[in-house]
Amino acid sequence: MRRLPIFFLVDVSESMVGDNLYKLEEGIAAVVSTLRKDPYALETAFLSVIAFAGKARTVIQLTELFAFHPPELPVGGGTALGAALSHLMDEIDRTVVSTTPDRKGDWRPVVFLLTDGHPTDSVGAAVDRWNSAYRTRVNLIAVSIGGGADHALLKRLTDDVVVFNDTAPDAFSRFIAWISQSIQSQSRSVSAGQDRKVTLAKAEPGVLVPVESADGATPFAGVDDRYAVFVGKCAKKKLPYVVKYERHMGRIETTDPVLSELLETRRYTLDTAMPVKTSYFDLSEGIGSGHAVSSEDLIGQPNCPHCGARFAMAVCRCGGIHCVEGDGEETCPWCGKTGMYQAADDGEGFDIGRGRG
Ligand SMILES: [Zn+2]
Ligand SMILES: [Zn+2]
Repeated sequence: MRRLPIFFLVDVSESMVGDNLYKLEEGIAAVVSTLRKDPYALETAFLSVIAFAGKARTVIQLTELFAFHPPELPVGGGTALGAALSHLMDEIDRTVVSTTPDRKGDWRPVVFLLTDGHPTDSVGAAVDRWNSAYRTRVNLIAVSIGGGADHALLKRLTDDVVVFNDTAPDAFSRFIAWISQSIQSQSRSVSAGQDRKVTLAKAEPGVLVPVESADGATPFAGVDDRYAVFVGKCAKKKLPYVVKYERHMGRIETTDPVLSELLETRRYTLDTAMPVKTSYFDLSEGIGSGHAVSSEDLIGQPNCPHCGARFAMAVCRCGGIHCVEGDGEETCPWCGKTGMYQAADDGEGFDIGRGRG
């Protein structure tokens, strides 16, 4: 049987933590359940999920739809697109059966690359390898989530680059429907014996925008601009968590005079604080992509998502971020040193407690 291999190459860097990651997990499950009801897809489509942050990892090997269990996606720090592409090409070499004079191999693979950031590694070699040996025999659809990806780079990889406006109403479900329909239409084509360039489903206006018309209209220069992300560790349980702030861009309206003043001077508001697994570090190439943002730019102080301690953004002298209950002594879970902490709750309400030990 000739398979139609579908690869999801998914950016799971810290900026995806929270809602987007959940929706992506649900989205992959929704794609699978739609395809299972389609006789053409059921017969041909095989799915694989590769996640990448600072490193890349195959989360699910190329699997037939019946046996496919939607994965829980990992997270990590960094956006190593070069490593991700290399990993993808190795996986294609390893798992996709190529056609030879005496054997019909698999159909032309389809890759959905979903990313929301600029690469943090060097991509040159991977781009060259892709263009010289893969581009003509693999359909790559590059999706810039929220317009935060490096569009010029994506255009060097494929003609199919789209911007996914993740703030549109029902954005994710419409996006996922578009992916499902594109796979369905491709499995129909191959079932009819046509192994050609992928025909993408009609793009949803307002949700998916061809990159050409999105350039210049994108409100963010890159994801680093849109989010400030910090990695902390629970002082009690020693488990990591991610604290994510988003630029408010002046969109928040309030009648509270204190908050109103903060919004004028600080660019980021608290979005979410989420526990992550210790495996977070397996996919990371170093921690703390948000450290360039100063605490004076942040509004909101989350509780520790592991132990509930009141302040999850205490900063040790070593630079490590961890939780503290309030004023007093605490041992930093990063460096093991004990120091006195004081929450700088000076009426402004939100300041981060800084290590004074
Ligand atoms: Zn804690
Ligand atoms: Zn420390």
